[in-house]
Amino acid sequence: MKNNPFPFLSKTKYLEGLKCSKLLWYEYNRKEDLPEIDVATQAIMDQGKIVGELAQTLYPDGILLQREYDPAKQSGKSLEATKLRKPLFEAGFVHKQAYALADILNPVEKNVWDLIEVKSSASVKDEHYSDVAFQKYTYEGAGLKIRKCYLMYINNQYVRKGTIEPKKLFATEDVTKQCDELIPEIEQNIADMLEVIKKQDSLQIKVGPHCDSPYPCPLEDICWSFLPPKDNVFCLYSGTKKAYELMDLGVLRITDIKEDIKLSDKQNIQVVCHKNGTPHIDKKGIKAFLDTLEYPLYFLDFETINPAIPAYDNSRPFEAIPFQYSLYIVKNKDAKSERHSYLAPGDKDPREEILKRLKTLLGNSGSVIAYNATFEKTTLRHASEAYPEYQSWVASLEERIVDLLIPFRGFLYYHPDQAGSASLKNVLPVITNSSYENMEIAEGNMASIEYSRVTFGKNVSEEERQRVRVALEKYCDLDTKGMIDILAALEKICRFRGDVT
Ligand code: SF4
Repeated sequence: MKNNPFPFLSKTKYLEGLKCSKLLWYEYNRKEDLPEIDVATQAIMDQGKIVGELAQTLYPDGILLQREYDPAKQSGKSLEATKLRKPLFEAGFVHKQAYALADILNPVEKNVWDLIEVKSSASVKDEHYSDVAFQKYTYEGAGLKIRKCYLMYINNQYVRKGTIEPKKLFATEDVTKQCDELIPEIEQNIADMLEVIKKQDSLQIKVGPHCDSPYPCPLEDICWSFLPPKDNVFCLYSGTKKAYELMDLGVLRITDIKEDIKLSDKQNIQVVCHKNGTPHIDKKGIKAFLDTLEYPLYFLDFETINPAIPAYDNSRPFEAIPFQYSLYIVKNKDAKSERHSYLAPGDKDPREEILKRLKTLLGNSGSVIAYNATFEKTTLRHASEAYPEYQSWVASLEERIVDLLIPFRGFLYYHPDQAGSASLKNVLPVITNSSYENMEIAEGNMASIEYSRVTFGKNVSEEERQRVRVALEKYCDLDTKGMIDILAALEKICRFRGDVT
């Protein structure tokens, strides 16, 4: 801002301004304090680009306008291109301080255009209306006649059969009415935003639900730094609304919650644990859970990719496709665990090979233990829909799958260091000696991103590919080995004779 007294307001900045004035101010005045784009966000952006390019193929005579740094130049070039009356990709126009680039401008009648915004999501979301409304406002202000506005998004019911068919992959919704309802507000919104940008100091904006909606704000580390990391009221189980109420009363720590505050049973357990610094243990409940397990025990974990554009035949957009499993088998109480694993080379659809191997390894009896087992069940079910010869086996297998999340989500065990989370990453270090610290890959989304990068990406050396594959093996191994350790810890608790409740 210091160098530019009359900034352009791009669509991205306008949407940020709608989310929060403080974020907008930082974008123009203290950009250096905003964190760099992380790997996960970059992966989403890369996917969006690929989806956008595929959508362009629906307009074979379309013209892609190379982006100019200067909005005025882009605008001049785009205006010139409109004379060709062809579909235009990335045409950019300026109206007063507003600057917008359209994914697709499609000529429909003499001097009239349809505006099409492409999203790599499976539905139209509320925030998309403001996005397209800002574009329509800008183009009409720049002199274009816009007939209709459309959102083009991914039809998640599409099933790939052979080459991708963009006409079937994309769904389109007319959002002209929703945009027209928003347009009258835009001029004033922009004026307010320009005032915000001009301010000398950042605004004092109270944190709230808007920080996480429609996406987590990049300034959360700064704005939310007043909260203690583990004992804060936002760690209350299913307690976001309650946490805001408590924060308004000046209560930030679970340990400071007074007895007269009405909480759920699980939240009350948390308060006692956080105040005493000791775990809550429902031995009876844990024992009842352990009694449901039948040897041999199979500890199973998948890693998956879920591309917006289906990578394989008989798969849908965003479907979780397993590319890796780790499996430990414990045949009886005294037996040592046996490890089996598979990491797909990436040369073909991995689902059939995984189903084939697991069918042999998992036998016909014994409990199959997974953490947050709905994911493993759904992944197997969808994989078997693509390979129907495995469908009846998967149906019978589902009855044997036991969710190790149950004792933790049900608060049969709760330790204050879990900070309200029953995830494997939070439970493992508090109940065993293991943790995900210092792991090169320590999280499922990163496993998916890294696998895709080294398997399907360009310019990846063999050495890099092997390094990542080793990290993937270690990560998936810990997910399953961790379950064995957690189960052993629960068994130990039940053997312990003290009265702990
Ligand atoms: S974290 Fe919340 S208050 Fe802070 S800038 Fe972002 S949206 Fe605004």
